[in-house]
Amino acid sequence: MSSLYYFISDLHLTPEKPDIQDNFIQFLDSLEPQTSALYILGDLFDYWIGDDAALRLGHESIIKILSKLSDRGTDLFFLPGNRDFLVGDHFAKESGCHLLDDPSRVMLNGTSILLTHGDLLCTDDTAHQKFRSETRNADWKNHFLELPIDQRQKFALDLRSQSKDLKQKKPSFIMDTNQNSVEEIMLDNGVHTLIHGHTHRPETHHFDLDGSPATRMVLGDWSPEASFIRLDESGFFLKKA
Ligand code: MN
Repeated sequence: MSSLYYFISDLHLTPEKPDIQDNFIQFLDSLEPQTSALYILGDLFDYWIGDDAALRLGHESIIKILSKLSDRGTDLFFLPGNRDFLVGDHFAKESGCHLLDDPSRVMLNGTSILLTHGDLLCTDDTAHQKFRSETRNADWKNHFLELPIDQRQKFALDLRSQSKDLKQKKPSFIMDTNQNSVEEIMLDNGVHTLIHGHTHRPETHHFDLDGSPATRMVLGDWSPEASFIRLDESGFFLKKA
């Protein structure tokens, strides 16, 4: 028997963009009651600077609606992105989300699927990879999370405006995934199906991997219309936005 699954990413929720928040609430309300699981593949939040700052950043209502969905019987999985990699156990418990490592392999309806946020595949962006490895260790995280909330928020906002500038300056291919890195991670994990977000370039890519057909599905951001992947017994459907 097949089950029903949804995948989303890159909503970049912030009280500054209430229309996306409204669409998210509507999206969750409209999920079929038989939905087995919702996979959130990172950058749900525009930035996350620690579970203790959720109230200050206006994210309490999101946590409540997520927990309502999990109470209704839909399993929630959260694989953090580069903007919200600091989500912690308190957030997980309050929202009812199970936290996933990046990448994570899942078996759904008989298909082995690798899930990742996607930024680790953008290996041409060496500056981002350097920042990523610097900030993804326990020492850096612990030090950062002990700073006053104001200071953490300033750091996140500076980072956000830097990344906006860089996006305009860097050539487009640097901000996309590297095909060698895509194939390597798929072979390492023994999958022929990959789902990720991050690049905001929603598309289904077909290619040959080790002699058999492989698929890479990319979720879009919400701007403000929903982008998602729906998986049921007839297969994958990508809504680009
Ligand atoms: Mn991202």
